[in-house]
Amino acid sequence: MEKIKSVRGMNDLLPGRSDVWYRVERMIREVVNSYGYREIRTPLLERTELFKRSIGEQTDIVEKEMYTFDDISGDSLTLRPEATAACVRAGIEHGFLHNQQHRLWYLGPMFRRERPQKGRYRQFQQFGIEALGWPGPDIDAEIMMVGTRLWRRLGLSQLTLEINTLGDPQSRGSYREALQAYLGRYREDLDPDSQRRLDRNPLRILDSKAPQTQQLLEEAPDLLSFIDGKSKDDFSLLQAILSENGIKFKVNSKLVRGLDYYTGPVFEWTTDLLGAQSAVCAGGRYDGLVSQLGGQPVPAAGFACGVERLVEVYETSAESVGSEQPDVWVCVIGDHSMSYALKNAEKLRDAGIETIINCGGGAVKRQLRRADQSGAQLVVVIGDDESMNGYVTVKSLREDGGQTQVNESNLADYVCARLREEQK
Ligand code: ATP
Ligand code: MG
Repeated sequence: MEKIKSVRGMNDLLPGRSDVWYRVERMIREVVNSYGYREIRTPLLERTELFKRSIGEQTDIVEKEMYTFDDISGDSLTLRPEATAACVRAGIEHGFLHNQQHRLWYLGPMFRRERPQKGRYRQFQQFGIEALGWPGPDIDAEIMMVGTRLWRRLGLSQLTLEINTLGDPQSRGSYREALQAYLGRYREDLDPDSQRRLDRNPLRILDSKAPQTQQLLEEAPDLLSFIDGKSKDDFSLLQAILSENGIKFKVNSKLVRGLDYYTGPVFEWTTDLLGAQSAVCAGGRYDGLVSQLGGQPVPAAGFACGVERLVEVYETSAESVGSEQPDVWVCVIGDHSMSYALKNAEKLRDAGIETIINCGGGAVKRQLRRADQSGAQLVVVIGDDESMNGYVTVKSLREDGGQTQVNESNLADYVCARLREEQK
């Protein structure tokens, strides 16, 4: 029979690698909790309209990357390509946005039909935070501190932070006109996507990855020279806060985000360690989104982080090498010791000791070989004599410590002490 394969760009996370993911996810939780962010979980499927209205019709995501289908009742549904819109949708629907303030975070799979390559998948995990109800720049700085703390916690040093501001609607309007006028002179030289965007959404062209367009943009009018008033002051204050906290950054006046809903400051962390897919985390302020989705206006800011890319950087940085080795492997010998062995393995786990029991029997030699391959520190051997007389035999797999007979009632204490000793 022909074998069935996974969908292109959608990967299995195999047991050998799930441990590193678990560790990264745990650190994410610890860091966001330490700032008072609370988890939100929204469905993987949303009405297509949600993304059209929030991300914007003229974006790569909405134009060509969404998994959209009609369900039997004729509703157009889409597998979420990102989660900010859903957080806002949930906030409006459950009435927890208006006149309130919330720090939210999420972690889960997103779906975009892009060309799969290293660091770019069709199902990928994003972790993100959203701060709803604060105008900034204090919370904008906090959001960048959350990221910075997480990178530090993960032992990552090779991330670069770039920041920019898109200003208020008025200054952005004037800039838009200036950019349109400039790029209009080179319409024929732009890549096809940028040509289409020139009339309706020229700022998005700054985000273009086409080399010929990039080249034209070098001489284009500068966004930051159009920003004034409160936006300018807020942006200066934000930079001052970052500097005072030792957070290094570069101002990049061409940085815009790929989604339409951003308004004030925007930022992105990149790394040289990932080749072409260098963006690890990106975000900014999106004060217009809540009202765009039908709620009372609420200021908001956040970021989204690609967890595959984060894990990849984490794995390439030396400090992160860890293990998913158990502490103890239990060998079970003879037909009458199975229940006794399972009971003692449970006792070890009660004491917080990671324990794998050899299921399915096998010769002693084979069981010991499996124990050795598992990377466990200690092996506990349980045969008929042990089970009949209420003791177990403990041997070290890593050091030549001989073997010791331990009374069943002392097992957990003994193993804890031995493990501590071996770790010295
Ligand atoms: P890129 O420029 O790499 O396409 P983006 O601007 O589309 O990124 P965002 O929508 O801001 O990305 O998503 C935030 C983060 O999610 C990115 O910085 C990246 O780390 C990750 N990400 C986005 N798309 C993918 C994907 N297809 N596969 C894996 N990670 C992704
Ligand atoms: Mg993209």
